[in-house]
Amino acid sequence: MMWLRCGCASKCVVSPLGRRFFKSYFQALGRGRSNVAAFMPEAAGFEGVSDHSALQDFSVSNSESFWAAAARQRLSWISPFHTVQDCDLSRGKIKWFEGGKLNVSVNCLDRHVHTCPERVALIWERDEPGSEVKVTYRQLLEMTCRLGNLLRRRGVKKGDCVTIYMPPCPLAVASMLACARIGAAHNVVFAGFSPEALAERIRDAQSSTVITVNQGVRGGKVIELKKTVDTAVHSCPTVQQVFVAMRTENPVAMTARDVLMEEEMLKEDAVCEPAVMDSEDVLFLLYTSGSTGKPKGLVHTQAGYLLYAALTHRYVFSYHDGDVFGCVADIGWITGHSYSVYGPLANGGSTVLFESTPIYPDPGRYWEMVQRLKINQFYGAPTAIRLLLKYGDHWVQKYDRSTLKTLGSVGEPINTEAWEWYHRVVGDGRCPVVDTWWQTETGGICITPRPSDPDAEIVPGMAMRPFFGIKPALMDTEGKVLSSNHTSGALCISQPWPGMARTIHNNHQRFIETYCQPHPGYFFTGDGAYRSKEGYYQITGRLDDVINVSGHRIGTAEIEDVLNQCSAVAESAVIGYSHDIKGQGVYAFVVLKKGEDAQEADLSRQLNGMVSNKIAKYACPDCVQLVQRLPKTRSGKIMRRVLRKVVERDLNGLGDLSTLDDPAAVQEIIEGHRELSSKQQQP
Ligand code: AMP
Repeated sequence: MMWLRCGCASKCVVSPLGRRFFKSYFQALGRGRSNVAAFMPEAAGFEGVSDHSALQDFSVSNSESFWAAAARQRLSWISPFHTVQDCDLSRGKIKWFEGGKLNVSVNCLDRHVHTCPERVALIWERDEPGSEVKVTYRQLLEMTCRLGNLLRRRGVKKGDCVTIYMPPCPLAVASMLACARIGAAHNVVFAGFSPEALAERIRDAQSSTVITVNQGVRGGKVIELKKTVDTAVHSCPTVQQVFVAMRTENPVAMTARDVLMEEEMLKEDAVCEPAVMDSEDVLFLLYTSGSTGKPKGLVHTQAGYLLYAALTHRYVFSYHDGDVFGCVADIGWITGHSYSVYGPLANGGSTVLFESTPIYPDPGRYWEMVQRLKINQFYGAPTAIRLLLKYGDHWVQKYDRSTLKTLGSVGEPINTEAWEWYHRVVGDGRCPVVDTWWQTETGGICITPRPSDPDAEIVPGMAMRPFFGIKPALMDTEGKVLSSNHTSGALCISQPWPGMARTIHNNHQRFIETYCQPHPGYFFTGDGAYRSKEGYYQITGRLDDVINVSGHRIGTAEIEDVLNQCSAVAESAVIGYSHDIKGQGVYAFVVLKKGEDAQEADLSRQLNGMVSNKIAKYACPDCVQLVQRLPKTRSGKIMRRVLRKVVERDLNGLGDLSTLDDPAAVQEIIEGHRELSSKQQQP
């Protein structure tokens, strides 16, 4: 039986943070600085800061004072830090809050248990709709402590790294927090990765302990996760023990290495002494893909990461005590780490763990869940929004969404049509849509429409404004800073912030080469961005997704945005391919909405007309291929690399397809491409 099948909610008392909020609000009112202090209690002591834009300026130009105040007030310290920051971006040296000692699990659990033990910490939205499980802070602390004691008893020490291969569930969160409690790092691997991909990450992290479940359940299907771990650990000589939690009732084959986790946890004490951690000790590794084949284990540390996750969670989404936060990302990605787990828990929030898919059992799943759980902030991915848009408004409108206050988008550029649908249909035109730009490397959201003055403009499809303490810069191809507006360039961040990754595990040189050397003194994001006349930011996509057509740069996302506005189109993916005359040509893969039946040639004419009208002739697709679906990772990112290989006819170079949501999609695309090129004699 999975640990703790049911829990209960209760009314909350005002937390210390909440009390501080009101105290400083009234103090500030007395001093005539009501707006800022009421909005952000941490800012109450900043002299001369009277409005939101002054606060933003202060956070960048007095970054040390800003972050020191935030760290002192938002985190609980065992002993205070003596140095706010010691960073040199050109050398990849990043240290925050040195001298400070704390424990992340205490910050996420114990301090809330003291004030509000029966508040719901986690709402586990299991695959089977209507079977959610609520876990209070008291219960989550107990689970974490028992597991922390178990890990300790079985030899896991401070500084070790535990690999977690689990779907979103309370025990996965307890596993992360138990590592943090005893000072071990965690390495959560998305539970959709193949045995090979898992093994590579276990080996690189040198884990001797792996935590998994017997089976996963997703979209009504059972997934043999323990078997995947069994296969993976064959090639992982470091692994000595595998903890197995029971997500389903079905027994699985156990070996001498395996430990029945829940059974063993019951034997442990419910109190676990937290390890005293330095601010810069490692909290976790998280692997992400780079431009070369080998995944990089980005390293995040204790205090800076937690502070940044907490502050962005609170202010980007306007999260308040008592709200229910619904981030539907998997915990295997950075979004799940920062906005399903660490940010909400550090803030004493109630956070949803979503185990299912957006269309199981039907395309109303998200909105039925919003109604049932009374979700206040919904945070999802554009790919899901586009998919749901295809099924029509009635799947949304049949459910009550009046609890929703903020809608978030993350992971890729959100095209205008999806943005508008999200805003108009899902949010009934009354919830701000925050398109949040960030990456595994940044730890938390860096560019986002909110926080800002409450009525400040939000332009559809734009990430808009930097978060506090973030100073973006755009670079031209020669590496010079572009200071004007209405310009595009390589997106860098000009000064360090506490949430940024510190290094790549076992490869600091690669960290320096990838992020610090391209633009010395700046953090290079690998993304391109456009800064509008008004100074708003729009992410144009990975720089490797920028196409250069006849000497003109064009973001694939920009073209897709136009294609997706065609009423027949559900979604699209654009890539560049080698073109004899223009340097690069534009190749568009297009998925039609259900019930649409267009011919490639007609559609191509229509789309070219639109692109030519909205961008320029040079951006028009040279080739439009209709496909049933796009190749996507399980987290919903379109695998453009695969599409490029198909168009280049480099089928041997397709690489590892095991991370795709549906590998069969690739075969269909290859055949479609073959047919189309024989008809058109195109690439
Ligand atoms: P990951 O580290 O896997 O979360 O991927 C980060 C990358 O996703 C970024 O470098 C961007 O290319 C893309 N991305 C994330 N959020 C956005 C967004 N709001 N708009 C555009 N691209 C995004």
